Amino acid sequence: MDFSKALPINKPALWQLQQELMSEAEALFGTRDESKVIYQPDWHVDGPHIRYSANKDGAFAELSFAAQTNWRLAVYQLAHETVHLLDQHGGQQTILLEEGAAVRFSLDMMDKYGFSTAGLPSIRSYREALFLFNSLGAEPYKIMKNCRVGSLEFNGIDSAVLKSETKGLTSADIFKMLSKPKMR
Ligand SMILES: [Zn+2]
Repeated sequence: MDFSKALPINKPALWQLQQELMSEAEALFGTRDESKVIYQPDWHVDGPHIRYSANKDGAFAELSFAAQTNWRLAVYQLAHETVHLLDQHGGQQTILLEEGAAVRFSLDMMDKYGFSTAGLPSIRSYREALFLFNSLGAEPYKIMKNCRVGSLEFNGIDSAVLKSETKGLTSADIFKMLSKPKMR
């Protein structure tokens, strides 16, 4: 991905980033729900978040307007939303562990593309989600992938799966990981 050729507002450039991020996400977390369509990312005053198509056959990321001319921000936001596009819950709230996976993935993608992650994530609930993801073990991606693939989707993960794939998590950790606070 060559960020010097065009700004994120250039649709083909942003689409290329979406495809690269999706292949990375699938490699780390398992294949996406292929019965659903991934549409071209767009922009919204309340972004970033996921927008479902009217008939819910698919979804796409809506990024904030500030990301239109800022690749660092575009990678941060789109990588996070890409994790939410793997399983499309149709608007249901996701487990906190999926938020943690999305935060960690976005930071790692920024690193990969050479952008600074200083000060991120800035919101406390996302820092807590990241902490929980990192506490899965020495190889959190691998553990998360096993849990997701074994449960068919992030939201299918339950405490029995987490206990079988991890060591030393307390019941309080597991309870928090599986909670569904209002986040996006
Ligand atoms: Zn999120």
